[in-house]
Amino acid sequence: MSVSFAHQPRIAVVGGGIGGLAAAAFLGRAGLRATVYEQAPELGEVGAGLVASPNLVLLLRRLGVLDRLLECAVPIEVGWEFRRWEDGRVLSAENLDACERLYGERTYTVHRADLLNVVQAAIPEGSVRLGMRCLAVEIGDDGAVLTFADGSRAAADVVIGADGVHSTVRAALIGPSPATFSGLCAFRALVPAERAPDFARRLAHTLWIGPDHHLVHYPISAGKMINIVAFAPAGQDVVESWSATATKEEFLAEFEGWDPRLRELLHASGTPGRWALLDRAPLERWSRGRVTLLGDAAHPMFPFFAQGAAQSIEDAAVLARCLAADLADPSGALLRYQSIRRERTARIQAVSHQRADLNHLADGPEQQARDASLRDSDPLAANGWIYGYDAEQAEMEASR
Ligand SMILES: Cc1cc2nc3c(=O)[nH]c(=O)nc-3n(C[C@H](O)[C@H](O)[C@H](O)COP(=O)(O)OP(=O)(O)OC[C@H]3O[C@@H](n4cnc5c(N)ncnc54)[C@H](O)[C@@H]3O)c2cc1C
Repeated sequence: MSVSFAHQPRIAVVGGGIGGLAAAAFLGRAGLRATVYEQAPELGEVGAGLVASPNLVLLLRRLGVLDRLLECAVPIEVGWEFRRWEDGRVLSAENLDACERLYGERTYTVHRADLLNVVQAAIPEGSVRLGMRCLAVEIGDDGAVLTFADGSRAAADVVIGADGVHSTVRAALIGPSPATFSGLCAFRALVPAERAPDFARRLAHTLWIGPDHHLVHYPISAGKMINIVAFAPAGQDVVESWSATATKEEFLAEFEGWDPRLRELLHASGTPGRWALLDRAPLERWSRGRVTLLGDAAHPMFPFFAQGAAQSIEDAAVLARCLAADLADPSGALLRYQSIRRERTARIQAVSHQRADLNHLADGPEQQARDASLRDSDPLAANGWIYGYDAEQAEMEASR
């Protein structure tokens, strides 16, 4: 779908993370030009990995940037390999041989910065304005006016808030609603592959689950690095910042008594990052007039289904199609986007939430029942509603 207008609408995207850049990319593909206002002085992502599931991979293919990502992505062969904390016994695992046949694309693990770079490659030159911290959004009938920290202002016909979990645009839309602390914190670390034990270098997305904690690792960056992310109860002093750190001793102490292979991997890591995980309930609505939200600004989710970035890219694909199809009525287009996206993202928020409790059960009857159900499950098929989803197809079906 492509549109051509003598007078293009002025579309402002607040936030140049994965979701905001994807919005500019999909809008560009639909013939619509957007300006992305990013607060940071340069585009970048923290040193950490993410799982790119088939529903995300499909959209990158459509953007024409998948080949570029595959130069550094790792094609995972075993997905969601759940292991017991104390002895590493495999409780269940997805054999991803069937992934492409079932869902049309493979699953990869990638460095976040690599994903950001390839999405950036899909947006028109000059679309991003850096060092533009949006402080306020005045919403009017025909658009909105953005005010930035440097005192400048920009009027836009359509505003897309892709400014993450502390979104300024969200606050302007629905009023102040600070996210609550989840009681959990996340550690992250990267280990050069040559220093990691063999089992961590396998083409596997591995999750160790145990009392109050779980830990995930997989290779990224063409197999050169092992990404580790771990979850534990948060103490009072843990802050919500991807740049906050803990000591390696604190990290190791959280996994005292766990399988020695896992501890060997942690020993090989440098100073870990540590931050508090925030929580927000699903919103009933996130579009008003010509202003809407996308990605974590609209529906932040616990990372336990590895879907946050994927959902922000799905949002971007659907939003671009809705706007391009109905430029005469942008408010209606934004409502239609919201109605296509709301139920799916709220469901993923809910299942991600439930998994926190399940992953962290103390040993006992409930844990044994969980392990038995993991053993009997086929997660690749059970998660088909997530992986087999084609966001653009969903928009087309909704418009029939
Ligand atoms: C530990 C962990 C592991 C994860 N693993 C996965 C995974 O495996 N797979 C997956 O799909 N997802 C994963 N996610 C989720 C994913 O990282 C997020 O959902 C995704 O990054 C959200 O993208 P976003 O663009 O909506 O928001 P963000 O990435 O938060 O980007 C927001 C951008 O807006 C900018 N900004 C903020 N405020 C302003 C302002 N006022 N003015 C201008 N700019 C502003 C910020 O600087 C930032 O660049 C994980 C998340 C965590 C925490």
